[in-house]
Amino acid sequence: MIAGIELGGTKTVVAIGSPEGCVIEEFRFPTTTPEETLTVASDWLRKRGQPERLGVAAFGPVGIVRGRQSYGKILATPKLGWTGFSLLDCLSNAFPQARITLETDVNAAALAEAKIGAGVGLDDLAYITIGTGIGGGILSDGRLVHGALHPEFGHLKVPRMAGDDFPGVCPFHGDCLEGLASGPAIAARWGTPAHELPASHPAWDTQAWYLAQGILALVAIVSPSRVIVGGGVCQAEGLHAKIHSKLIDLAAGYFPGVTEENYVLPPALGQNAGICGALLLATDC
Ligand code: ADP
Ligand code: ZN
Repeated sequence: MIAGIELGGTKTVVAIGSPEGCVIEEFRFPTTTPEETLTVASDWLRKRGQPERLGVAAFGPVGIVRGRQSYGKILATPKLGWTGFSLLDCLSNAFPQARITLETDVNAAALAEAKIGAGVGLDDLAYITIGTGIGGGILSDGRLVHGALHPEFGHLKVPRMAGDDFPGVCPFHGDCLEGLASGPAIAARWGTPAHELPASHPAWDTQAWYLAQGILALVAIVSPSRVIVGGGVCQAEGLHAKIHSKLIDLAAGYFPGVTEENYVLPPALGQNAGICGALLLATDC
């Protein structure tokens, strides 16, 4: 039995699936306290059998580097009650026979898009989510990038658009990329939630400008062959094309791959990229 859990800031998905990362059956429910959330997920799985392999795609910051003291734990998060909670201890107790693999939600989504989504066949790909926060997962030379912790794409410092004095909403940095371009940043900047802004609103040019700045940094540092941009905010009509066009301007002919037609794409797996990634992690472990 192959199982996956995608632990999100607002909702959790638990599923059983195939070794190819396809969901056979899933259950979605709100993320509450750590104990309650993992109990709901474990009980749901137990009713379906005993997973031999379990992939976990978790919101960050989370310790994903084996051998480090932080491995398996949720780290400093503003999410009440979660800081220091060990996902790994809790799930190993629930399923002592299971082999458990843990990743960030965005790394898992990057893996899924590269294996069965919008980047099939690519060994170098980035997956970015623009929602309540901004995050990025990176597959480089066929491997998910960790580092000492994991990439924190949303907390990049980006240049300011001329004349923009919006202070930003990141509680740590104010005007990092997440502070300037996440869903809550859009709502604070324009006084209207992102999903209520029409496609003709100037907010989307500002949004594309900032996201392209962030993606340019990714291009310069890890050189992905494709950038998949997902998350609630990227459901806005026409946003991918706007981001891509701005990115081509910024790249100024220096990075040849960037001009390819399919360089910036929405996730082919839509809202399922994270859970499919969790199932693929389970298969790989
Ligand atoms: P989370 O990051 O909590 O998992 P989402 O990825 O769904 O959640 O992102 C939530 C954000 O997406 C909210 O700020 C919301 O305003 C925005 N959003 C949702 N749907 C749309 C849409 N169709 N167009 C633009 N923004 C949207
Ligand atoms: Zn920040």
